[in-house]
Amino acid sequence: MIVKGKGQLTDIHNGVYMRIFFQKLFKLFYPPLPTCVACGATFTSLYPLAFCQGCLDRIPFITKPVCSRCDRPLRGGDRDPCRECQGETYYFEQAMAVAVYDGYMRELLHSAKYNFRPDLARGLGTILAVWAENETRLEEIDAVIPVPLHPEKLATRGYNQTELMAEPLAVALRRPLYTEVLQRVKPTVSQSKLSRREREENTRNAFAVVDCPAVAGKEVLLIDDIRTTGYTLSAAARALLVAGARRVKALTMAVGVTTEQWKG
Ligand SMILES: [Zn+2]
Ligand SMILES: [Zn+2]
Repeated sequence: MIVKGKGQLTDIHNGVYMRIFFQKLFKLFYPPLPTCVACGATFTSLYPLAFCQGCLDRIPFITKPVCSRCDRPLRGGDRDPCRECQGETYYFEQAMAVAVYDGYMRELLHSAKYNFRPDLARGLGTILAVWAENETRLEEIDAVIPVPLHPEKLATRGYNQTELMAEPLAVALRRPLYTEVLQRVKPTVSQSKLSRREREENTRNAFAVVDCPAVAGKEVLLIDDIRTTGYTLSAAARALLVAGARRVKALTMAVGVTTEQWKG
């Protein structure tokens, strides 16, 4: 057995400290590449995005031409406004969306919502943030408000995925993010098995503004993860207008479209 003397131990300690010092110095000049929040791959990007190019390529982003009211893609002989918007009256002035609720975007949003992935929800917000750059329709926005969850649902899920998505967007827009101003006062049952009219009924009076001066006279941008019928956003917009907001616009990560609209 070799017993190391005190001097030898000091040499070993010095060696360890030097190695840690050089490792830190190296990281300072060559920081590790970010890893994709969805697939874990390391990547480089000119934008502050949380997704690698491979994942971005799988997202069904919306491309022009789109409906001027709801951003749904117009295909073939579709007229503007699209069929979904005709005959509907919403309390928001305009609804915008980044992607179609389909394929990989559907998987990501589902995971962000149900698989306890707050990191993925915030990561999706970086896509909203980059999308919002140079978006003229957002120039007049005074405040960003995510659609709130009912307190019971928030307690079960542990986080509001929409609030996390709105954070990087509010930073990019340099606008305040209000998370307490709008409250969901009525627990809404799951919308997926309801008819259109039942959905509208379900969301009516679901929201209330608890701080009217915060929104009075302002143009508000409402954020949600998914828009299907638009009734939830419309009910939230109505509550904001009643509280004195000047105008409400809506932006969602994804919008539901019929298969013929999207693939046709
Ligand atoms: Zn990826
Ligand atoms: Zn439309």
